[in-house]
Amino acid sequence: MDYERLAQLLFPKLEATPEEMIARYPARQLPEGARVTRMAPSPTGFMHLGNLYGALVDERLAHQSGGVFYLRIEDTDKKREVEGGVATILDAFTSFGLPFDEGAGLDGETGSYGPYRQSLRAEIYQAFVKKLVREGQAYPCFCTEEELAQMREAQEQNKENFGYYGKYAIWRDRPLEEIEAELAKGTPYVVRFRSQGSIENKVRHEDLVKGKMEVTENDQDVVILKSDGIPTYHFAHVIDDHLMGTNVVVRGEEWLATLPVHLQLFRALGWKPPKYAHTAQLMKIDEETGSKRKLSKRKDPELALTFYAQQGYPASSVLEYLMTLLNSNFEEWRRANPDLPMNDFPFSTKKMSGSGALFDIDKLKDVSKNVISRMSAEAVYEQAAVWAVKNDPEFHALFTRDPSYSKAILAIGRGGKKPRKDIALWTDVKPYLDFMFDELFTPDHTLPENVSAEDARSILTTFAAQFNENDTPDEFFVKMKTIAEQLGYAPETKLFKKDPEQYKGHVGDVSMVVRIAIAGRQNAPDLQSVMHILGAERVKERLQRMADSI
Ligand code: GLU
Repeated sequence: MDYERLAQLLFPKLEATPEEMIARYPARQLPEGARVTRMAPSPTGFMHLGNLYGALVDERLAHQSGGVFYLRIEDTDKKREVEGGVATILDAFTSFGLPFDEGAGLDGETGSYGPYRQSLRAEIYQAFVKKLVREGQAYPCFCTEEELAQMREAQEQNKENFGYYGKYAIWRDRPLEEIEAELAKGTPYVVRFRSQGSIENKVRHEDLVKGKMEVTENDQDVVILKSDGIPTYHFAHVIDDHLMGTNVVVRGEEWLATLPVHLQLFRALGWKPPKYAHTAQLMKIDEETGSKRKLSKRKDPELALTFYAQQGYPASSVLEYLMTLLNSNFEEWRRANPDLPMNDFPFSTKKMSGSGALFDIDKLKDVSKNVISRMSAEAVYEQAAVWAVKNDPEFHALFTRDPSYSKAILAIGRGGKKPRKDIALWTDVKPYLDFMFDELFTPDHTLPENVSAEDARSILTTFAAQFNENDTPDEFFVKMKTIAEQLGYAPETKLFKKDPEQYKGHVGDVSMVVRIAIAGRQNAPDLQSVMHILGAERVKERLQRMADSI
């Protein structure tokens, strides 16, 4: 067979050559051990948690090693593409603060290894397909859908493996004249790779996540170029990741099945394959059945990346939670280093589990409480305000009316070894501090069981007479003790526990009455700090309001 002639027949006008392409993409000059990773989503308009999970691995591997993390848009499947799909991808990653060093942007792109959109790379792929045809490693196939369907039926009947291989690879060795005749008729065709593999053979693979394994060699003549001249995922992956210098490919484990095809294509082109990290599926416990299953787009709103911002999760909480799923030793590290930025954690693919990661939204909330408890009041204020302006404009107006007032409230119990953990989501901010705004203050004056209305009134009026907004929390407590004693309540909880018969209650009940008056409910941050921020006038008003209403 005259392969040279076949190559010319298939690509008569193609000007790009593999040599030019190789020259256009010189090896990257990076420090030893630097990882080049990429995020390669398709612009389907839907970004899911799995995308972010993988991207975090990519980003950490690259930036931890002084390497490059880039974005490539895999838009070869026009049927799946939606308008605005690229913007959705960029928005998702920008909102989670995962910075790409290079790649596709909304208008144009950055970096010198582009174009970073596969739809702009048709010539590049074709140059390499042509090379394979010229070498006898690829050939056109004119099979129709019907023929392929018949083949499948026959395979089913004969209990044979499905696919285009062996005797079923009917265009593999057709004479040039027959090919020319089809081309002359304008019959649509695909280009297939001529596999030299056999399912009798095993290929060794060492995966960064799954570890050492043996995979069966590929014996199928897979399609590398579709009839519209656009490559399949398999071929585009090999060409792009080679030319763009990716040295670690992080992708979902669903690609493990076709890894033998990819390894074969790298070999056919004379290139060294990258390292692979095949990440496990995200699973959850199904609420109805109680058993593990994959997260589903239809059933689980939390699969969509947009869910988190809408619900009021800080991006940093989601990332921190994903890190707990990714590296089994992260939580221990976090306990030992509560104040370090997450990126100081030495992330490693060795600590990734090869089996499904279990997503648990309650655990995410716990992580988020910790993350928010370590933020500054300033940061909590800023982020809560950004959330509220979109989702609760009325509250936003109150919350931002006097920023220093809101920040002072948020600062109560922050810092130190045991910061308060009241907020998991930005939606929690309003119920946490609504009582600080007179417009939202709707007190529930229900008394603790063992305090009579008469005692409560005494507590409130005695305290009002002594109140000093500049007291320390300790000074406030001393006042509570004195009032307790005067009214027959134990000044210490200990004393009460020892001899409950002797007292009406204890100092905690007394201060609870004050708390109910001030916060309108039984739990609130440090009361003296709260009263200091409210100011003497409003404190006295609230004490009086309760005294009058009980
Ligand atoms: N476009 C592929 C996907 O969205 C990318 C897989 C890969 O990262 O190689 O699944």
